Amino acid sequence: MNDMSSSAHAELQTLETDVVIVGGGIAGLWLFRTLNNLGYQAVLLENKTLGGGQSTKSQGIIHGGIKYALSGNLTKASECIAGMPGRWRNCLNGEGEVDLRAARVLSEHHYMWAPGGLSRLTSFFASKALRGRVDSVKKKDLPEVFNNRKFNGKVYQLNEIVMDIASVNEALTEGVINRTLEVNWDQADHQGSTKLLAENGEIQGIEIQGADQRYILKAKRYVLTAGEGTADLLKAWGVSTPEMQLRPLHMALVKHKYPHPLYAHCLGTNIVPRLTITSHPTEDGEWVWYLGGDIAENGVKQEPEEVIARGKKELKDLLPWIDLNDAQWGTLRINRAEPKQSKLLRPDQAFCKAVGNGLVTWPTKLALAPNLADEVLKELRGAGIEPSGNDGFAMPTDLNSARHCEPFWSGCFDK
Ligand SMILES: Cc1cc2nc3c(=O)[nH]c(=O)nc-3n(C[C@H](O)[C@H](O)[C@H](O)COP(=O)(O)OP(=O)(O)OC[C@H]3O[C@@H](n4cnc5c(N)ncnc54)[C@H](O)[C@@H]3O)c2cc1C
Repeated sequence: MNDMSSSAHAELQTLETDVVIVGGGIAGLWLFRTLNNLGYQAVLLENKTLGGGQSTKSQGIIHGGIKYALSGNLTKASECIAGMPGRWRNCLNGEGEVDLRAARVLSEHHYMWAPGGLSRLTSFFASKALRGRVDSVKKKDLPEVFNNRKFNGKVYQLNEIVMDIASVNEALTEGVINRTLEVNWDQADHQGSTKLLAENGEIQGIEIQGADQRYILKAKRYVLTAGEGTADLLKAWGVSTPEMQLRPLHMALVKHKYPHPLYAHCLGTNIVPRLTITSHPTEDGEWVWYLGGDIAENGVKQEPEEVIARGKKELKDLLPWIDLNDAQWGTLRINRAEPKQSKLLRPDQAFCKAVGNGLVTWPTKLALAPNLADEVLKELRGAGIEPSGNDGFAMPTDLNSARHCEPFWSGCFDK
């Protein structure tokens, strides 16, 4: 069996832990690994597949906040996120709080380009405030995609990396997957085989069904990292705040044989990039270019055909030397889940709020997962919850471990 202290109550067996984390996206997985490394007995529950919510459907950019400085000012959001690329790089070098040496970096830099010149922003990008975060790129160092005589834009290199998030998730669960559990609750009423038990705003435990018997999982703290699923969990818990907001996107995807990747924001006339392109390698040796930015924000009100038509036009206008005639196109609708703001704006930093014996969290950005783990740790330590030690800690073997998700483009090109 396992090291976990347990006692039988009729058929219901109690499993005691330090922390139960509900939701296995980047927020839950980063926190899970951090707590494991510190010696906490942490169990992570996943309803579908690890990373299969927003996290692997994100563009994987470890923002340093430059995107948010496009108004020409350094906003609070861009200042607070500025330290994140450094945090992730430390982890990639095996020197951070989690070990990401096995994770795959898709690009050492994200770029920003303006077709035909950056007049409005040139002096701002050259300013002292952005030193070390934005560099202009010499012709010889341009990403291969821009290496064409027809290209007359100005390119800046950002101090931001782009990650293959599926490989990050694998690294975060390496060796501890048997402390994750696949759960199954009906999203509508949370009365499936998994049940949240709560009374007077306190979570009493979470009932889960094993192949051999039923368990009740009890923790000193329950951390909700369920992204969009957090609203339903709050309902089941009987808690009305904090509230959640959803900001939808309708992304375009193009799978093609053109051999070079691109990781770049294309500037437009407003503060949202006209296009944000990231590139993701497929098993058959092709690339999926994933198109976000204004095309995806505006695309929310549009049918897939309209988003695809705009994607085709944008690439033809901006990079006419690239032949995408044989490409396959698709789209993906996905919501960003965040704490509710007075306007539908992007919140400034990772959100973590203590409610009874729980913590309700949203990272608001993939890049901010380390910041979210910091906030949770602060709360745990503030409440005197110290690691119990986790050598040999594992879940009973009649419970299934959670599984990692398929690539985000699976199913997008079938239509
Ligand atoms: C298209 C897109 C592009 C983005 N690009 C970037 C980017 O380049 N850089 C960046 O920093 N940020 C980006 N973001 C934002 C970023 O993806 C999110 O902020 C981040 O991934 C949220 O992580 P999460 O762990 O909170 O949520 P999720 O990744 O959604 O994970 C939540 C998990 O909880 C599970 N779950 C739900 N309900 C339950 C339940 N009841 N029980 C158990 N499990 C449950 C879900 O199945 C899921 O696995 C992007 C977002 C989108 C949508």
